[in-house]
Amino acid sequence: MSIFYPKQVHIVEVGPRDGLQNEKQAIDTSIKVALIEKLTEAGVQYVESGSFVNPKWVPQMAGSEAVFTELTRVKGVTYAALTPNLQGFERALSVHVDEVAIFAAASETFSQKNINCSIAESISRFEPVIAAASEHNIPVRGYISCVAGCPYEGDIASEAVAKVAAQLSAMGCYEVSLGDTIGTGSAGSVSAMLDKVISAVPADKLAVHFHDTYGQALTNIFVALQKGISVIDSSVAGLGGCPYAKGASGNVATEDVVYMLNGLNIHTGINLDKLIDAGNFISAALGRDNQSKVARALISKR
Ligand SMILES: [Zn+2]
Repeated sequence: MSIFYPKQVHIVEVGPRDGLQNEKQAIDTSIKVALIEKLTEAGVQYVESGSFVNPKWVPQMAGSEAVFTELTRVKGVTYAALTPNLQGFERALSVHVDEVAIFAAASETFSQKNINCSIAESISRFEPVIAAASEHNIPVRGYISCVAGCPYEGDIASEAVAKVAAQLSAMGCYEVSLGDTIGTGSAGSVSAMLDKVISAVPADKLAVHFHDTYGQALTNIFVALQKGISVIDSSVAGLGGCPYAKGASGNVATEDVVYMLNGLNIHTGINLDKLIDAGNFISAALGRDNQSKVARALISKR
């Protein structure tokens, strides 16, 4: 039996947002802008570049307006941001964000602890954001966290993930990104979860977002590819951490994903060498080790 892989994969680079928001130290706007520009130079077509949440919750993202104002845009590249409410959406609109994203959880306890409301309440709060976005022809992406496990509840039923995915999709999210926030999913559980979700939302409207906390991210992406999912969220240099597991690694590194896809002859449009330069730049700026194994191996040969 042969397995069919997508010919092309769309990488959603989340390092400048999901990655950097988990960094403790203050990061200059100029560093964030330089990172985004180096990523697009490497051929990255989609960069989640900021977040318009309340700066009290996520101080690291307080300067998102400045990032969007200062960056030099490349034609054809999508610069996106997280907008949890109408206020955030208005801020995003004022700096010409191309796309916005909203986020819900598959775990009731996580939703309560993280955004102080039930899953159903959180979803209804996004209605005005989606309405405003549609009025301005701005596409909305939906994120679901805890799709393969929750720091409070442990296992999460695949039915719960499928239900939230179907709701976000029905509300108007053109794509739903399935996030393994704590990185506990592995090939078996992720395969079963994806089957359930794909029965509710077609694979071409889904993306996967794996954190590499347990070292399972690439394997899980490989499983997702086999199910026809062709949009992958990743973070250059593996930026980010996990607030629920101290010292744990963050998002799967974009360099590692691109290396794997190159080996499968799956096109991404990304130049791995230039991507490694972008990852090196931000790792040096933050004074941290590059978390990408591929980057570390290839740098040692330079
Ligand atoms: Zn994430």
